Amino acid sequence: PDLRGEKLKVAGVAKAFGGNQALDTVGLIAEPGQVTALIGPNGSGKTTLLNMICGFYRADAGTITLGAKNLEGRAPHAVARSGVARTFQTPNIPPGITVLDAVMSGRFATHSASVLEAVLRLPRYRRVRRDDFAEARRMLDLVGLRHLEASEAVALPLGQRRLLEVARSLVAGPGLLLLDEVASGLDEDEAAGLADVIRKVRDAGGTVVLVEHNFQLVLSLADHIVVLAQGRVIAEGTPDMIERDPRVMSEYLGT
Ligand code: ADP
Repeated sequence: PDLRGEKLKVAGVAKAFGGNQALDTVGLIAEPGQVTALIGPNGSGKTTLLNMICGFYRADAGTITLGAKNLEGRAPHAVARSGVARTFQTPNIPPGITVLDAVMSGRFATHSASVLEAVLRLPRYRRVRRDDFAEARRMLDLVGLRHLEASEAVALPLGQRRLLEVARSLVAGPGLLLLDEVASGLDEDEAAGLADVIRKVRDAGGTVVLVEHNFQLVLSLADHIVVLAQGRVIAEGTPDMIERDPRVMSEYLGT
């Protein structure tokens, strides 16, 4: 499928919480058809930056744009409508919801971890349901869960729930897919399966930004890596460059 990713540009973004400068003039570009990974030690500002892109926090300074759209200063639902989709580590999937309906709910979700809230809104959209089903199935194919569409979503093992969450995020046709620690808690096989799906999203033209602790996964998956430390970008480049950067190794891996 053609995912029509858009270019994300973050420039000069700063954010302080009280006297704590969580982000200090951070810049980042994520291109369509690429996986951009955001890494760094705990407390380096990764989550703050994600929350800023999603409109949960307002930046003290700087600009955030997706394609020609200015995201800075917009509320989370407006950012979502502008094409930013984000996965949640523990989506709140109520019992009794099928995999297909859970993915469908992504058509109407706006930055909410609550699948129930979105599912409850489905009947109002009856007129467009045929298209929605087709799109949901297309994304289930992409993540390899099509054969499970009638299964109960909460009953899936964690690895498959994460894939479902990726499909749910993609079904709205986002210009930008933000993946927040999607591999955490997965075993090696599950993480490898997820990485394959993320590569497919990338190869289909999606713009993917990944926040991930698993350094090996990042090295194997990312086209471009941005390293944060204490609220600043201390290095960026290809996995090869990052792996050989002594500063990154000492800051990030503490060696
Ligand atoms: P990371 O995701 O890289 O672990 P965070 O973005 O969570 O880092 O945190 C960056 C810094 O900002 C930390 O010093 C953290 O304590 C602080 N911080 C993050 N969110 C808040 C908040 N809502 N209120 C106060 N301080 C925060």
